Amino acid sequence: MRWDGQSIDADDGALPGLERPGLARLGLVRTVRTPEFAGVQFHEVMAKSALSKVPAASRMPFRWTINPYRGCSHACLYCFARPTHEYLDLDAGADFDSQVVVKMNVDTVLRSELARTSWRREPVALGTNTDPYQRAEGRYRLMPGIIGALADSGTPFSILTKGTLLRRDLPLLVKAAERVEIGVGVSLAFADSRHDAELQQRVEPGTPTPRARLDLVRAIRAAGLPCGVMVAPVLPWLTDSTDHLRRLLDAIADAGATGVTVVPLHLKPGTREWYMRWLEKDHPHAVPGYRRVFRGTYAHQEYRAWLWERVRPLLDERGFGASGHRSGSGATGRFSDELRAHDDGDYPAGSMVEPGPEAVPGMPRDAAGVDQLLF
Ligand code: SF4
Repeated sequence: MRWDGQSIDADDGALPGLERPGLARLGLVRTVRTPEFAGVQFHEVMAKSALSKVPAASRMPFRWTINPYRGCSHACLYCFARPTHEYLDLDAGADFDSQVVVKMNVDTVLRSELARTSWRREPVALGTNTDPYQRAEGRYRLMPGIIGALADSGTPFSILTKGTLLRRDLPLLVKAAERVEIGVGVSLAFADSRHDAELQQRVEPGTPTPRARLDLVRAIRAAGLPCGVMVAPVLPWLTDSTDHLRRLLDAIADAGATGVTVVPLHLKPGTREWYMRWLEKDHPHAVPGYRRVFRGTYAHQEYRAWLWERVRPLLDERGFGASGHRSGSGATGRFSDELRAHDDGDYPAGSMVEPGPEAVPGMPRDAAGVDQLLF
């Protein structure tokens, strides 16, 4: 059992008596604090299942996911998985960043699920809820077992991450790609200038820098694997200027990405409060604009249409468009400046209006349009 074989010091800060019903339901074995991860607690659980079925109503282009971790020390302010921590009697803010659930036996459970005669080897996505290569993976090394189990069972899979730790498993992924179809995607929403990197560290404080992630894209490509980049999320007023998008897409193209998908910010309840608290502190001038753009979870349809019109030619120019030379080979292939006057004026109606019959001629409406942007 993985539990026995782990090279983790036997007693490195286990916290007996930390009782939360939500964690107990997950099969909590112990809670651990360790000096290498200041401020983070790991809740080690024995999971009952590894594969999660995506609800039929979901727009996601896959039906199965694996999340070896819950919570994520990458700590992105906009993370849409934040509210899921509330099911564990933890909060969607700081707890999400610092209370990380680790499914210690995920590979063993996964192997038994994949061995069932009912398993149809449908594609499995990793990194859709929390990041499988967040820093905890350096300690727990769950991914090699997962990759091995999927490849051995003939199950195609994809991984989306911000974590440069994926480099460690590149040889495994290359081997897996000889047996099953795999996709690798890197998430990167900020360009590489000093100013962009400063904003990135405010918004995604636990993540590797843009430069490190561009280098990861290069390493994946050098290993002979395709690599899509998820430019996600584009932040209204902060990262959606043509100037920023151009610089970002130039860098992604230069790194050799084989696909790009652009995703505008969305703010679920739970995430919205966390993100807006930061925005009010760091960028108060953008707050009224956000109130216009975000009346619900998704950005207003006119904003999405406007953003797509801005992004589409930039993708086309770099071969990432629908018929471009880089399209079709990306894995997951999904979109700071200071607030600039020209950006504000550029918005479709500096004041967003109620959705009209067709905001931009030729732009698919609503759900279909979101799908183009999201997936
Ligand atoms: S890396 Fe992904 S899962 Fe982790 S906090 Fe950021 S958005 Fe959430």
